[in-house]
Parts: sequence; C-alpha cells; structure tokens
Amino acid sequence: MNRSGAFRSRILHVTSTDPLRYEYLEDGVLLVEDGKVVDLGAAEVFGRAGFALGQCLHEPDYLIVPGFIDTHVHSPQLDVIASYGEQLLEWLNKYTFPAEARYADETYAATSAVAFLNSLLEAGTTTALVFATSHHKATDLLFDAANEKNMRLIAGKVLMDQNATPELHDTAKGGIADSEALIRSWHGKGRLGYAITPRFAGTSSVEQLTLAGELHQRYPGTWIQSHISENLDEVRWVSEVHPHVDDYLDAYERYGLVNERSVFAHCIHLTESERRRFADKGAKAAFSPSSNLFIGSGLFDLAQAKEDGIDVALASDVGGGTSLSMLRTIADAYKVCQLKGYSLSAMEALAMVTLGGAEALHLDPFVGNFEKGKEADFIMLDPNATNVMSRRIGFSDSIEDEFFVMMTLGDEKTIAATYVAGEKMSL
Ligand SMILES: [Zn+2]
Repeated sequence: MNRSGAFRSRILHVTSTDPLRYEYLEDGVLLVEDGKVVDLGAAEVFGRAGFALGQCLHEPDYLIVPGFIDTHVHSPQLDVIASYGEQLLEWLNKYTFPAEARYADETYAATSAVAFLNSLLEAGTTTALVFATSHHKATDLLFDAANEKNMRLIAGKVLMDQNATPELHDTAKGGIADSEALIRSWHGKGRLGYAITPRFAGTSSVEQLTLAGELHQRYPGTWIQSHISENLDEVRWVSEVHPHVDDYLDAYERYGLVNERSVFAHCIHLTESERRRFADKGAKAAFSPSSNLFIGSGLFDLAQAKEDGIDVALASDVGGGTSLSMLRTIADAYKVCQLKGYSLSAMEALAMVTLGGAEALHLDPFVGNFEKGKEADFIMLDPNATNVMSRRIGFSDSIEDEFFVMMTLGDEKTIAATYVAGEKMSL
C-alpha cells in the first residue's frame, strides 16, 4: 500500500475553531509521508525551494479538505434509511429493531460492516462515532473491518437490557462484560477507539447504567455515547421508565455518564437547567439536522447552544438521517438554523465537520486539519461534480462562497477521492 505522496491542488482547512481561522491555498502542495502530513504550502514556495513539482498528483480544479467527521451514526441502520411515516419510538419498533436483529447473523454482520464503511468513505467521511448493534460479535466485526481499512473510528456495542425487542436485549452484567471484552480487544488498537454505548436511558436498567458508568471509570480513555431529548414523547417516556430521576440528563448524570468524553445525539428539548449542567460537565452535543427533520423531532437551536457554552458537532444520524454525506448534513443544518434565525456560515460549517468534530471527540491531535504531523485523512472535492454546481461555482468570487455552494448542492458525487492515512481508498 502507498501511504506517501505529494498532492498539488487547491487546499482549504480550518486552523482554529475559536476564534475561527482557516487557510486557503489557491495552488498548494500537501506532502504526505507514511500516512502523515509532513508539509503544506504554496506550490510556488515548494518550487523555489527546489522541490520537483512534477512529482505531484496535480488536480488544479479539485479542492482538498480534511476528511469529514460524523459524530453520531448507526452502522446497522443503512438498512432502514428512508423508512416512511413514523416518529421516534414507533420508528425504532417498526423499522430499526427488526433491522438490527439481523446482525445476530455473523456473515450478514461482516458484509454489512464493510458496506457501511465503504459508504462512509464514498461520502468523504473518514472518522465517525458509531453505534453498532447490541451484538458482541457484530461489533467485533465492525472494528475488524475498520482496522482493515486503517480508519480512525470510534464505535461501541449498544447496551440495551430492557424495553426493546427481546431478541436484541442484553443483560445488565452481560452487556458490560461484552463491552469490556471489546475495549480490551480494540480500544487504542491501530486508529480505533471504544465508546460505551447505552442506546438511551429508556432501554437500560438502573443496574446497567450504573455498571456503564463504572466501566468508564475503569477505562477513562473510552468515550460515552447515547441519545437525549430527541422527541417530546421520548422525554416523557424516559421520566416514566426512571421515575426516580430529576430530569432526562440526570438519568445519565447520576451514573457518571456525563463528562467531557460523552457525546449525546440531539439535545433538542433540554431544559435550561439541563443545558447549564451539560455545558458545565463539558459534554458534547451531536446536532443531527437531517434526522431531526425526517423523523419530525424538532429544531435544534445552535445559536442558543453556543450561548450556553455547549460544544456542538455535526452528525448524520443515519438511519434517522437520510444521508451519510456530511455535505448534505450541513445543508440541512443550515436550513434548521435559518428557521431559528441564525445563518450558519460556510467556514463555521466546514469547521464543524472537520477540526471542530475532531475537537469534540478529543481527536484533534491526530486529525481535523493539515497541521504537520497529523494523520493524512483528506478528500478531494470536485466543483464540477454536477452541471448545476459547476455553473453556480462559475459565478463564485471567493472560497467561502464556493464552499457554501458545495455544502448546499453537494453529496457523494462531489467527493472525487477519499484518502485514509495517505492511502487512496478504492470503493
Ligand atoms: Zn441516533
């Protein structure tokens, strides 16, 4: 495999999220050795220093940006993406749980894991925080497939010992033992990490939530991922399942599951007290606009979350979301923000799916931009991917406007190539 190369193209990356700063090279060179960025600069400067520009892979039209980061996605739910007509709790029962039950079959789980990862890469996503199913073996196979591709992936076996379909239930202790075995096998191996993954408070017993918090204490380098306050019926239902808690966040907080390594999808209907505690604990919100619109859950208030000091990253939440493409996810985020009176800028959006996503996952020492020494996960965007995009970008007078067009009109077709640690992925 070839993990080195010189890439000459237009290059854009975010160098700081707070304050927001980015660098654009109209004719740049990205130099990669052994899967890492060793240099970045203007082609002219490289040439003057004696670098033989002829050795570069030269794509003057393409725009190279860091690989996208999806902070909340369900690998088995590619099988139920685009399923009609239900809201959250019914959607889970009618579509999701039967689909996830198929992952008990190991052959099916193995081939599906590869299909899922190829679909991420096709969309330009090189890092993701992933819910597998409640099956130990299927989760093991997902890690195995990601390791094979050398992807920087964080994933976890779903903990779910009540209130789902019985064939998907683990047990409080059994689910934790499986999670611990997976941590020992995969956490820190290659570019992989483990996330302790209670599906949501309603589908885990107090015993399981307690043990999950203890497991994180034993392995503090792991992540925690779950859902919170996606839909008002769900918020009510969780308060019935756990009548002893003060509010939804408390159903995680009191078991040690809310800290700076926790990522909670949705966060739409959090109360003021919950938002304050969420921010104080440094937990991260995974804004999933496509899913929230499709399932009809509500409109996340990004401006409010920022005012509250909550770190927000973006997520596809497939299969509630209708696309793995982070470009389409940004397009939906922009529309949700517009409805909330906030215009999400192109560069803020780019930050959210690259360096900002990396920071939310504490992966910014490794990925998120082209700082020297970081892993060379990057994609090539094709401004001529469609006639409409090409025509509109013909009228662009700035890189900000051009990326805004790409995020509004783009999808998998815009991704001309995906590189993982310097290696071009063939899909
Ligand atoms: Zn989800």
